[in-house]
Amino acid sequence: MKKTTRLQWKVLRYLFTYVIGILFLLWFFQVILLQPFYEFNKINVVKEVADKIEKYIDSNQLEEYVSSLSDQNDLCVRIISENDISTRNAGCRISQLPVDKLLEYANLAIQNNGTYLSKSDLVEMQFVPDTLNTVTAKFNGDKNVIYTKVVNLESDSPTIIMVNTRISRVNAATQALSYQLLFIGIIVTLSAAILAFFMAKKIVKPIAEINEASQNLSKGDYKHMTSQKDYLEVQELNQTLTEAAQQVQKADKAKRDLIANVSHDLRTPLTMITGYGEMMMDLPNEKTDENIKVIVNESKRLSIIVNDLLDLSKLAENKITLNLEKFDITECCREVIKTYDQHLKQERIVIEFDTTEDVNIVGDKHRISQVLHNLINNAINYSDENKRIIIHQRIEGEKVKILVQDFGCGIAESDLPLIWDRYYKVDKEHIRSNQGSGIGLAIVREILDLHHYTYGVESKVNEGSIFYFETTIEKGE
Ligand code: ADP
Repeated sequence: MKKTTRLQWKVLRYLFTYVIGILFLLWFFQVILLQPFYEFNKINVVKEVADKIEKYIDSNQLEEYVSSLSDQNDLCVRIISENDISTRNAGCRISQLPVDKLLEYANLAIQNNGTYLSKSDLVEMQFVPDTLNTVTAKFNGDKNVIYTKVVNLESDSPTIIMVNTRISRVNAATQALSYQLLFIGIIVTLSAAILAFFMAKKIVKPIAEINEASQNLSKGDYKHMTSQKDYLEVQELNQTLTEAAQQVQKADKAKRDLIANVSHDLRTPLTMITGYGEMMMDLPNEKTDENIKVIVNESKRLSIIVNDLLDLSKLAENKITLNLEKFDITECCREVIKTYDQHLKQERIVIEFDTTEDVNIVGDKHRISQVLHNLINNAINYSDENKRIIIHQRIEGEKVKILVQDFGCGIAESDLPLIWDRYYKVDKEHIRSNQGSGIGLAIVREILDLHHYTYGVESKVNEGSIFYFETTIEKGE
C-alpha cells in the first residue's frame, strides 16, 4: 500500500525539490558553464571585429575605426597589406609575431576558406628577481586567441586581418559565484521551509475542519457542515459533502421507511395466514374451501411482495441484464390484457385496447410486460367502482407510445414527481389492494430507465391518470 504523508510534508518536499532544481540550474550555468560561455563569447567578438574591419577595408578612416574597435573590445588588430597598419593594445602578441609565423597563419586561413582561429596557452615571460638575466616562462591558464582572416583573396594583393585577444581564466569569478550560490541556497531553503509550513497550515485547516464534519456525518450528525470558504476547491468539497450528507440522510430515511413499509406489508398477509390457519386448526367447522383460498391468496400476495422487492433491489444495483429482442408490442399488450380475464369477470372492470396496427420494438419483452402489469394494476387499484381502463397505442412518426389511462382518483400535481419513489404513497391511509407491493412504479422506473425509453405521467385529481412510455418503432420483419 502507498504510504500516506501529511500534506505539510508533501508541500515541503515539493518546494525543496523545486528550490534544489533551481539552485542546480544556477550552479550549472553560472559555475560550470561560465568559462565555456565566456570563451565562446570572446571568440564571437573576435570574429565580429574581423568581419567589421573587412567591410571598412577600403575606407580612408580605417585606421581610426580599427583603433576604436580594439579599444571597445579590449583586443588588438593587425592588418597586413601593402602598407602595414597595426593597432596595439597591452599584451598584444601579434605585433611581435615573426614574418614566417604571420605567413603560416595566412596560409592556414587561405586553406580554410579565408579564416583561421588559433587558440594556445598564454606564456608570460618573467624575470627572476636577483638573477637579472634569468627569464622564466609562466602559464596561468589564460589563452591567447589569434583570428586570421584573409580578404581580397582574388586580387593581386590580398589583405590579412589578424585579431588577437586574451581569454582569462574565470576561476575567481566562479569561486565567488559558488559562495554566493551557497548563501542563496541556505536562505531560499529556509524561506521555503517557512513558506511550506504556512501554506500547508492554510490549506490543511479547512480540510481538517471538513474532515471533522465528515466524521460527525458517520455518527449520523448531518447538520454541522463547515462553513469555511477560503478557496474554491474547499468550497466545492464542502458543497459535495453537504449534498452527500443530504443524500445519506434521504437514503437513511428511505431505508427506515422501507423497513417499516415492508414489515407492515408482510405482517398483514402473515397475520391473515396465521389467523386463518389457527382458526381452522381450532375449529374443524372452519376448514372450508373459502378459508383455504384466503390462506392461498395471502401466500400468493406474500410471494408477489417478496419477488417485487428482490426485483427492485436487483434492478437498482444494475444486476439485471436486459434480454433485448425485437418483439410485437401490440401483441404483448394483448397478452397482458388477457391475463386480467379472471379479474374482469369477478370485478366490474373493463379494459379497452385502442390500437390501429401491430408494431415491433426492441426491448426485454418479459420486463416490458412487467411494466404493463404494474401500470394496469395501479389503474385498477386507483379507479372507482366503475373500473374503465383504456390502453392506447399511438404511432407518432418513428415512435410508438403506449398509454395506460384510468378514470380514478388521479394524483395531485405536487405528488407527481414523487410517486416513482419506492414506497411513496399519496394517500397514506390508502389500503393497498391484493395486487400492490408499494414499489410498483419504482420497478417501472428502473426498467424503463434501463431501456432508455421516455416515460411519464399526466394526471388530474378526480379525473384520472395516464401513465405512458415511448420508444422507437423497429421497421421490417
Ligand atoms: P402502490 O403499491 O402503493 O400502488 P406504486 O409504486 O405502484 O405503489 O404507486 C405509488 C403511488 O402512486 C401509489 O401509492 C399511488 O398513490 C400513486 N399512483 C400510482 N398509480 C396511480 C393511478 N393510476 N392513479 C392514482 N394514483 C396512482
